[in-house]
Amino acid sequence: MNCASYRKILLTLVITVFFVFTGCGEQSFDLLIRDGIIIDGSGKEKFKADMGIAGDRITAVGDLQNAIAVKTIDAEGLIVAPGFIDVHTHCERGLPAIPSNENYIKQGVTSVVGGNCGGSPLDLDKYFTLIESKSVSTNIAVLIGHNTVRAKVMGMVDREPTDDEMEEMKILIDKAMIDGAVGFSTGLGYLPGMFSKTEEIIELNKVVGKYDGIYASHIRDQGLGMYESVIEAVRIGEEGGTRVQVSHLKLSIDKFWGETEKLDKVFREALGRGVEVYSDEYPYVAGNTSLSAVFPPWSLAGGKLLENLKDPEKREKIRDDFFETGRMKTYRDRDMLSAIQIANYRKDPGFEGKNLREILEMRGKEPNRQNGVELAMEIVESGDASCIFFLMDERDVGKIMNYPYNMIASDGGVIRHGQGVPHPRSYGTFPRVLGKYVRNEKVLSLEDAVYKMTSLPAKAFRFKDRGLLKKNHYADIVIFDKDKVIDTATFKDPHQYPMGISYVLVNGVVTVAEGELTGNYGGSPLYGPGKVSENEK
Ligand SMILES: [Zn+2]
Repeated sequence: MNCASYRKILLTLVITVFFVFTGCGEQSFDLLIRDGIIIDGSGKEKFKADMGIAGDRITAVGDLQNAIAVKTIDAEGLIVAPGFIDVHTHCERGLPAIPSNENYIKQGVTSVVGGNCGGSPLDLDKYFTLIESKSVSTNIAVLIGHNTVRAKVMGMVDREPTDDEMEEMKILIDKAMIDGAVGFSTGLGYLPGMFSKTEEIIELNKVVGKYDGIYASHIRDQGLGMYESVIEAVRIGEEGGTRVQVSHLKLSIDKFWGETEKLDKVFREALGRGVEVYSDEYPYVAGNTSLSAVFPPWSLAGGKLLENLKDPEKREKIRDDFFETGRMKTYRDRDMLSAIQIANYRKDPGFEGKNLREILEMRGKEPNRQNGVELAMEIVESGDASCIFFLMDERDVGKIMNYPYNMIASDGGVIRHGQGVPHPRSYGTFPRVLGKYVRNEKVLSLEDAVYKMTSLPAKAFRFKDRGLLKKNHYADIVIFDKDKVIDTATFKDPHQYPMGISYVLVNGVVTVAEGELTGNYGGSPLYGPGKVSENEK
């Protein structure tokens, strides 16, 4: 045999040994999810396939029968979907102290957006450094909040900003965008945002537009002024040069119940003009805010509610107006005393979980509106309470859910298990949509629901390589039983984790297995385009 022949034999031997050791030429993975029913997040119909993961990425989707892997999950009969992305939360507050974020990860949520409704950390560089130093279960993106920025520069004053103050606010927002904010949020119904004119927000939003951020709006008035407020939000995006996210969309004043087509028209008109506009919705008939927030709008002006309550004349007028103007007015003769339930009340936890009617009865008082307002005033004067307000109509909730631009989001936060009687949305939003609205009531298809929880939010917030199950995307994955998935948290007993969520992976790390936390966390900050492009310079 000549030299070339020896080389040939040697080469064949080397190749043979290589294939034997790597599994006969088949692919190998860190993790293999076998025999699942894939819903890829695009809205396309489900299909059966295996999925291979290496490191933090999906590296193969298809028939991987002969593949080998370090770990295997048998997903036969289960749905495999992209991890859910919740674009409207307040998780940035609780995450550093409770990095397990158990009430979100157990719903299958792998990414949360915080800093909503105008409130956020001011120094995002510091915030993200803190998050990076910890091991957190979910990914987190943050918006820079207008109320935070305005309060820092101007305090709580009721006036327009001076040129210098405008400049200072712009600098703070610019810095936040470079530090990694995904956009800008306002809470124009809260202090001090309510003091700002539309033009102020447009000017500030232009800074966000420069970095391709999104504008997320807790609109100015969710009551009688709702339509004008949605139009204002659209205008801020249109003139500021950003996409628009209308947060927690709802028809929460019963005068407007049933007007879902009229509301949809406002969005469609904006979309028709080329404005990239979205909304999000939580799947419940009740909202959650502070009790003081639903006092008559005039009594809140200037942040003077407590002062107004001390003035006997004004107090009298508040008593007259509370159920007659603003958010708590009913046009359908509903029992508004039972529409207000206390969630957290530091002064007297005995009130938590009870509505105003029940508290009055407990005190042996006549449950009428006069006594109801007196009780509400007493609570606000004793430090205020977080309350749940039953203000929506179930039929509207299903219709808004189906708007093609609408996502599922919770508007909740990281919960310390067992504390207070919070809104159940922080525990149940995503499983509730899959169980109640998809399986039981057939309001929307499973594929469509997953789309509204995954690739639609990823598109709106420009999360690169997330929201879809495809090769080279991050391995943010939820595996659930479509016949069992359901929320169990209720308004009276909210500290309950959902059922039917079997596995949750974040950046390839198995964080929930057979419904329980594994103790391994793979979450990371999701930085906005401002930070990303800064790093690429
Ligand atoms: Zn809000």
